[in-house]
Amino acid sequence: MQLSVQTAGSPPTSLILGPGAPVMVFDVGGTDLKYGVVDSTGRFAHQGTTPTARASQGEFLDQLSRLVAIYRAEPPERRPQAIAVNAPGIVDASTGVVVSAVNLGWTDFALSSALEARVGLPVVLGNDVQVAGLAEHRLGAAKGLRNALVLVIGTGIASAVILDGEVYDGDGYAGEIGHARMEPLTSTTAIPCTCGASGCLQTVSSASAIARNYSAVSGIAVVGAKEVMEAAAAGDAAAVGVLDQAYDGLALAIAQSVALLAPQAVIFGGGLSNAGDALLVPVADRLDSILSFHRRPLLLPARFGSSAGLLGGAVQARQLLCKERPAGGRQTPSPWRD
Ligand SMILES: [Zn+2]
Repeated sequence: MQLSVQTAGSPPTSLILGPGAPVMVFDVGGTDLKYGVVDSTGRFAHQGTTPTARASQGEFLDQLSRLVAIYRAEPPERRPQAIAVNAPGIVDASTGVVVSAVNLGWTDFALSSALEARVGLPVVLGNDVQVAGLAEHRLGAAKGLRNALVLVIGTGIASAVILDGEVYDGDGYAGEIGHARMEPLTSTTAIPCTCGASGCLQTVSSASAIARNYSAVSGIAVVGAKEVMEAAAAGDAAAVGVLDQAYDGLALAIAQSVALLAPQAVIFGGGLSNAGDALLVPVADRLDSILSFHRRPLLLPARFGSSAGLLGGAVQARQLLCKERPAGGRQTPSPWRD
């Protein structure tokens, strides 16, 4: 299998990543486990997707170990020397622990050390959104910027904060802008959020919220936000109202981030960003009306779609071997470094 990650307008991964150590990356989702092996030229020599083993942490580690064993039998230019694992939820990259991943039922899972013990290779752990943000910063739309915000808008909303050229992860807790309350405290219409709070940004502005809120208002069942955007373009007042609320929420959340962090750019990723200017233009207009003296950030689409996690993971795994500090700050020197 000789696959290459290539998104519209992007060069092949061999040109994006460049030469370096061969590494293996796992992008763990609640349903699917994506994986890829990057060879010494920077190309994805192997890629695949398989259902995530969810029965127990032991079964999950067995699944990863089996996949690593397959590719360790490859020739040296494709034999992984380090492993990156991108996990959802609260991830402490510095200790290699998944503090909490609700979708997988994991709490305080010392994933890095457990996998290192099984496969005998260095392992770096990262949060999936932070790692995607790293890919955009090192290789994509935010390349060369010192300060940026990478927003990932899909089922939920999360972000990666790039500060002074590094991903700032707040020990795993930073970037959770989807769970910033946007409703006044006196609001009686704040929508309950999956996190247990209510009135969070993602209850009005995520792709799934747009679809859900439109169905609630109109009584028309829709599969996704794309249908709501199409309905709005056709003059459906309910769709226009739901999208107004969604764009208002995004603009307000970005305005708070701009006031606090002054990012040079805000990068839009995730499923909703596929809407392109249909999303960016109304958010930019609102943001422009909110800001005063603030530095206005560029609003840009992400360069990498679903491949961002694998690319960012490859960067992390190579950094581990090159004695650099991965995103989130691995404070403890790895015994695997030579
Ligand atoms: Zn929430």
